[in-house]
Amino acid sequence: MADEHLSEEQAAALREWIAEGSHLRTLQHEAKQTERLEALRALAGEHGELQNERTRLAAVHAEQEKAARDAENSADDVRERVTRTETRLNDGTGLTSRDLMGLQDEIAGLRERIDVIEGEQVEALEAAESTASQLADTTAKAEEVASRGRELQAERASEGERLTGEIAEVEKIRASLLERIPAALHSRLRAEGSYPAAAVVTAGSCGACGEQLSGMLGDSYRNLGPGGMLDCDGCGTLLLKVA
Ligand SMILES: [Zn+2]
Repeated sequence: MADEHLSEEQAAALREWIAEGSHLRTLQHEAKQTERLEALRALAGEHGELQNERTRLAAVHAEQEKAARDAENSADDVRERVTRTETRLNDGTGLTSRDLMGLQDEIAGLRERIDVIEGEQVEALEAAESTASQLADTTAKAEEVASRGRELQAERASEGERLTGEIAEVEKIRASLLERIPAALHSRLRAEGSYPAAAVVTAGSCGACGEQLSGMLGDSYRNLGPGGMLDCDGCGTLLLKVA
């Protein structure tokens, strides 16, 4: 196989086929869109964390609002007790002055209690307000991350489409170049594995695996005329001698 000699036109077609193969591999690598995928994964992780934080803040906020309502209810209870006690005091029926002083003390104690509870209510409301604002900030951040994710996803889709189109174009070009290369080489060229099926020698090294040509192979290569071919003894790729 490798001792076959290509005409100038065939060698030119194979050389172009090799170059388009390298172009194809670049496109196929690009089509994986590794960086975009990594960025998308990072955004998904960030979004998940923000959603967890939102859940946590919403629970804290609900507790704080409940604490404020509880404080309001218990302040109402104590106010009712004040009213009842005041009614008894104002009525005064059958009460000694000691009783009256006792009731006045009770009212004063209840009013102090109301002040404390109202203070707690204000604290709970302020805390709830601050949590609500943190929750709003976190929600805005989560939405921003989600929207960046959607943009990136759309970019990835359109890039994918573009690259698929380019890959199909290059494959078409290679298929038509293959027609200008002897049929005896086709099955070998089509069986491309991890290394390109054919390559040229660059600075004494195989263009497919990068190995330096061995002394003997290097000699044979130098003795070939343009369009001559031999196999790389490193990776087995078909090496084309170019002028
Ligand atoms: Zn090689």
